[in-house]
Amino acid sequence: MPITLLPPEVAARIAAGEVIDRPAAALKELIENSLDAGAREIRIELRGAGLDLIRVTDDGCGIPAAEVPLALARYATSKLRTLDDLNRITTLGFRGEALASIAAVSDLTLLTRPATEPAGTWVVVRDGRILLQERRGCPVGTTVSVHNLFGRLPARRRFLSNARHEQQALLAVATHYALGHPDCRFSVTSEGRLVFQSPGQGDLRAVLERLYGPATAGRLLPVAADWGWLRLRGFLSPPGLSRSGRQGISLFVRGRWVQSRPLTSVIEEVYRPHLGRQRSPIVVLLLDLPPEEVDPNVHPAKTEVRLVREAEVVARLRQVLQEALTSRVVSPVPSLADPLRVRQAPLPTPRARRLAEPTVTYRSPSLRPLGQVGATFIIAEGPEGLYLVNQHRAHERVLYEELRQRAPAGGQLLLEPVPLQLTPAQATALAAHLGDLDRLGFALEPFGGQTYLLRAIPLSADPDGVVAAFCAALETLTENPLSAWLDHLLITVACRTAIKAGRPLDLGEMRLLLDRLLATPSPRLCPHGAPIMLHFSQEYLNQQFARR
Ligand code: ADP
Ligand code: MG
Repeated sequence: MPITLLPPEVAARIAAGEVIDRPAAALKELIENSLDAGAREIRIELRGAGLDLIRVTDDGCGIPAAEVPLALARYATSKLRTLDDLNRITTLGFRGEALASIAAVSDLTLLTRPATEPAGTWVVVRDGRILLQERRGCPVGTTVSVHNLFGRLPARRRFLSNARHEQQALLAVATHYALGHPDCRFSVTSEGRLVFQSPGQGDLRAVLERLYGPATAGRLLPVAADWGWLRLRGFLSPPGLSRSGRQGISLFVRGRWVQSRPLTSVIEEVYRPHLGRQRSPIVVLLLDLPPEEVDPNVHPAKTEVRLVREAEVVARLRQVLQEALTSRVVSPVPSLADPLRVRQAPLPTPRARRLAEPTVTYRSPSLRPLGQVGATFIIAEGPEGLYLVNQHRAHERVLYEELRQRAPAGGQLLLEPVPLQLTPAQATALAAHLGDLDRLGFALEPFGGQTYLLRAIPLSADPDGVVAAFCAALETLTENPLSAWLDHLLITVACRTAIKAGRPLDLGEMRLLLDRLLATPSPRLCPHGAPIMLHFSQEYLNQQFARR
């Protein structure tokens, strides 16, 4: 549609204006314009960390000569018209502000041609006003050159004194858009040197290869799912692969790079048992939903969106992540490549043995227990040397995995239901999620007012411990998002009911525990992220005993 000025009632509904506060913000707007124009190729040239030059050239639809002045005016857009359009935004831009905002703080030139016109339009803008507009030959598409950004705002320039930091932010914007739009070919040159290029053939893994190198990209697990109203595709790091910092998580909703607290939380929650402290996975997810399901008009920089069915999206995402991580897990301990498959093995306590009927299938044992140190650590031999296993943490991991996989109706009825006196906030939080708790084996029944009865708990050798853990976890019910709280609950239950340090174990119990540990997806880290085992390789031992 042609570019027109937004009617005042629409302009008034647009969330507080676009802020061009740093070079990366300008680059982001220019890339979004090129993508909205249907570009298949976007070339980015940078000089002086974006302060001297940001030039974006695309092969998109171009701007008709007659509309060029409007493109540079505030609240002029070709992307929406009416209030109703605001509820169904299909483009990355919609406020008609970016070019005007950038032109106000730079020396901007624009060269553009739509396929319908024989020649292009060249304009020079100073202080937001068009100095010169003339015809000039050029290919179909648009080139926007932003020179001397903040040149008339020396204070802003000084504020952005860290050029390296700004350069990183510029590259992050470019590479993220390349990930979010693998079908568009991106190239970035800085000071005339090519620093990044994506192939632009729709192959997301190929873009990841350019970013992380083929070795890392090759280990990422592909995911794809389609529920009609929500489609999702992307790549995830397997449990052994992680990074420090959160930059590895990239989320795109309808092609828009977004920061989303709820989606990031669920990713961190699902990965938590698989990663150490302070580590973060590589996750690139492209979510596609109908425009009515997404409201991008909530944040000035459009980096946050409101999802109409947020809870459902979060639940689907959790499901996809959990399936991908548990079904494809490669044992993170390479020497334990063939973990024992132990199905529903009993707890290594005599009491537990009476509770569950064991169906243990033994293959050649991977870790052979030799004894205990201080009734706390199991000392074991494996194909790769010596292992010291923290028995409490090992059991914690085993119980946590079992709790997570508990089939529906897998609970055990309590002989005497436990009454729980809740605060109004706790009662409200709990009421909304009785179903989730029930699936985990916790049956709760409203008992009038803010009282609930705990009627059943997951099957355990230590019912008292489970009830105590549940009550302890309730204390934090209103402090966390519920999904994180459910995980916290399971960790608490596992921690409280796991065998303690100082408990003597016989060799049979030790073997059972080790077998079950190796059958879990993450035998190296306890659910809190602490190490479960120390490994001394044969080679290390030989070295230590070598004569010097
Ligand atoms: P918005 O993207 O919110 O519409 P902008 O100020 O970024 O606002 O752009 C104003 C208008 O200029 C756009 O609606 C579009 O019609 C046109 N435009 C901007 N950049 C391009 C481009 N690279 N290719 C084609 N048209 C463009
Ligand atoms: Mg725009």
